[in-house]
Amino acid sequence: MSAHGDFDVLVIGAGFGGMYMVHSARQHGLRVHALEAGGDVGGTWYWNRYPGARCDVESLEYSYGFSDDLQQDWVWTERYASQPEILAYADHVATRFDLRRDISFTTTVRSATFDEERSRWIVRTEAGEELSGQFLVTAIGCLSAANIPPFPGLEHFGGEWQHTGRWPATGLDFSGKRVGVIGTGSSGVQSIPVIAGQAEKLFVFQRTPAYTVPAHNRALSGEEEKAIKADYPAFRAANRLMITAMGSRFPLNDVSALAVSPDERERLFEERWERGGLGFMGSFNDLLIDAAANELAAAFVRNKIRTIVEDPDVAGRLCPTTTIGCKRLCVDTGYYATFNRDNVELVDVAAAPITEITAAGLRTTERAFDLDCIVFATGFDAMTGALSRIDIRGRGGMPLTDAWAEGPRTYLGLGVAGFPNLFTITGPGSPSVLANMVVAVEQHVDWITGCIEHLRTRGVREIEPTAEAQDAWVTFVADVADFTLFPTCNSWYLGANIEGKRRVFMPLLGFPEYVEQCERVAAKGYEGFALI
Ligand code: NAP
Repeated sequence: MSAHGDFDVLVIGAGFGGMYMVHSARQHGLRVHALEAGGDVGGTWYWNRYPGARCDVESLEYSYGFSDDLQQDWVWTERYASQPEILAYADHVATRFDLRRDISFTTTVRSATFDEERSRWIVRTEAGEELSGQFLVTAIGCLSAANIPPFPGLEHFGGEWQHTGRWPATGLDFSGKRVGVIGTGSSGVQSIPVIAGQAEKLFVFQRTPAYTVPAHNRALSGEEEKAIKADYPAFRAANRLMITAMGSRFPLNDVSALAVSPDERERLFEERWERGGLGFMGSFNDLLIDAAANELAAAFVRNKIRTIVEDPDVAGRLCPTTTIGCKRLCVDTGYYATFNRDNVELVDVAAAPITEITAAGLRTTERAFDLDCIVFATGFDAMTGALSRIDIRGRGGMPLTDAWAEGPRTYLGLGVAGFPNLFTITGPGSPSVLANMVVAVEQHVDWITGCIEHLRTRGVREIEPTAEAQDAWVTFVADVADFTLFPTCNSWYLGANIEGKRRVFMPLLGFPEYVEQCERVAAKGYEGFALI
């Protein structure tokens, strides 16, 4: 469908956020249209097709809860769903709810300008199409703006290269090839074991070692699925009460790591390690707020690395020294053991950084590497990158990038002062990446459509956060972060992975309290927003 026309709601993006936004807006009788850069629905799961891509949230939780028929009908085959299975799920949802008729694909939004006279957003695409909407909803993902470090010489590279977040649907054939993977965050940690099994030789270029815990992925038993499906709404409700909106079956152990004996501590860490997954950080209640407690968990993982990796020198270089969980914990299948393979070499690019990409491969300050393929697992300009790549202008033609020059400023992570009728699904200042994203997305969409209904039934043309409410919210988000160890490392949560980006902790920790806050604001007639 080509993009043109005037709508009640324009949506940018057709990943999990955009898809549900289209569905929910329709249910509320709104004329809605979504613009999607990709060729189909799925967002993150459309773009991240790299080998080994898999969700690190359990599949029975990482799925929509808005339709009981949907959650009853869909059958997940594994504890952690693979990228192809999640993309198949997105396809199923789009077909089941006939979403595609209100989505334009391969349509990249270039600009969005608020027309103050008409109280409408004017959106222009790269192809020159123009649309308008009373409301603009961004559903462009927190981790969608791929970051390729500006290594000189990439244009001269004679082999093939890809970023994990822009992986071609046709895949890459690594057989018989010399491959270099740059980056050891979640994407590197997932792809490295798989690529190692395919390539003739794999060089892993590591700058900062990551902490990763085993996924212990497995086929889902019918019994497990049956038990949850017997009362799926209760399961969803229990998860929404968790700080990260997930993991109610194995919740936080509400005890300090410093309050138990060394043997008991080891037993509890081991139990979580054996269970696998992100729940490891819930072994004790102070791992992300007390540096001494955190170090105990970090030391446990370092011991595991030394046990798994046979070469002590390689094991030493794989051992992180930073705060565990400060950068997002990785979840892997066979990552550390991959370094026992003869065809895998770990290259420390903290000690000897990459200086350039060459026609034949790449060069560090110490050595040249001949490569047939380079995989950039180098992450994203997170949370604000996708927004700042669109020319978004609010009142008086103010660019969003100017309004956010000192870091993103929002109210509830949902609205921005000076940008009326703009809603940001999982925007900075909301739990987003510190929660189960699908749950966070559904909560935002429900709140947004509820808000639009409130405005329309009262004949309100515009809604916009007040500067005071926004200032207070920005302070609150920072205060919550400062109570934790999150600000102590150079993570993408802080924008620290992007040169020149303002260091601001962007997500908000604590899903249930956040939901309460959103509901309170709505119940008080959208307190903190100006309604015109
Ligand atoms: P990331 O966590 O930001 O990791 C990027 C990696 O690239 C880091 O190891 C980084 O090193 C390295 N790097 C960046 N610039 C470099 C340079 N100039 N030279 C050498 N190394 C460089 O990105 P990601 O792995 O794509 O993951 C991002 C997020 O996406 C995750 O944290 C997670 O939230 C999500 N994700 C989830 C899954 C899942 O569900 N399983 C999978 C993939 C991604 P430094 O640490 O030194 O900067």
